[in-house]
Amino acid sequence: MKSTQLIDLNYRGRFAPSPTGPLHFGSLVAAVGSYLDAKYHHGKWLIRIEDVDSQREVPGAANEILYQLERLGMEWDEEVIYQSQRSEAYLEALNILNKQDLIYPCTCSRKEIADSSIIGLNGRVYPGTCLKNPASIKNVHALRIQTNDDPIQFEDILNGTYSQRLKSDVGDFVLRRADGIFAYQLAVVVDDAAQNITHVVRGADLLDSTPRQIFLQQLLGYPIPQYLHLPVVTNARGEKLSKQTNAASITISNALPQLVDAVHFLGQQPPPEILEGDISSFWQWAQQNWCVDLIAH
Ligand code: GLU
Ligand code: ZN
Repeated sequence: MKSTQLIDLNYRGRFAPSPTGPLHFGSLVAAVGSYLDAKYHHGKWLIRIEDVDSQREVPGAANEILYQLERLGMEWDEEVIYQSQRSEAYLEALNILNKQDLIYPCTCSRKEIADSSIIGLNGRVYPGTCLKNPASIKNVHALRIQTNDDPIQFEDILNGTYSQRLKSDVGDFVLRRADGIFAYQLAVVVDDAAQNITHVVRGADLLDSTPRQIFLQQLLGYPIPQYLHLPVVTNARGEKLSKQTNAASITISNALPQLVDAVHFLGQQPPPEILEGDISSFWQWAQQNWCVDLIAH
């Protein structure tokens, strides 16, 4: 049991929602887990709105998420960052990687990739077609990064050692899509570095993205944060709660029981009387008693 208060004033955590809809129970769990871990350590908790993919964004969702967090009593430090305003920083990172001769254009269609590849840990493993036969940049193209098979390993605070060989397990991955949109893997790494994030606490659906992010951090000379991947909330059909699976929005008028459900989901054991108090007494209890060892893994 981690019973001692581990004060780490340099701790900088974050919650990075995609504004595809209001908070639902799944995103609430990621928000609460990242918030409590930061507050337990007396660190900072930042918000980043991951609206890099404007096609997926739902107008008004970012503001609604911020409003919900505020009403849930979750106070963030520093100014909110929006990925839609950070293209220059992503381009700069892309240029640094390009100078290392690691970027190449790819004009393959989805169908061509499907017909020529095997399924890896995270969908299709791109077989490197356009690396072997360079594509003309006159055509609309995505930009991929050349990977290798050196193992990339890290210690997840909850899940222990996790390792991948990128070339075999995921393949050369996209950093900028053919429609010009920067990929999540690049944006998240540039922004975690820009916000000086020391601890990334997020859902375990992103565990298998982490080696790609560490690979980019190494090439860009960024520090590598600590990672803690929380269990993912699923519905009765075993699907991850999300907008696509029609997860219900958190109802702010009834916040306390939902916060209590979220910490229960994370294995924490608040006393039943917690429901008779208010949101601020809930947070006081939850911050003081946060215990990562109680989370299912
Ligand atoms: N924006 C991502 C999501 O909502 C989270 C990214 C991250 O925490 O690294 O799933
Ligand atoms: Zn290609």
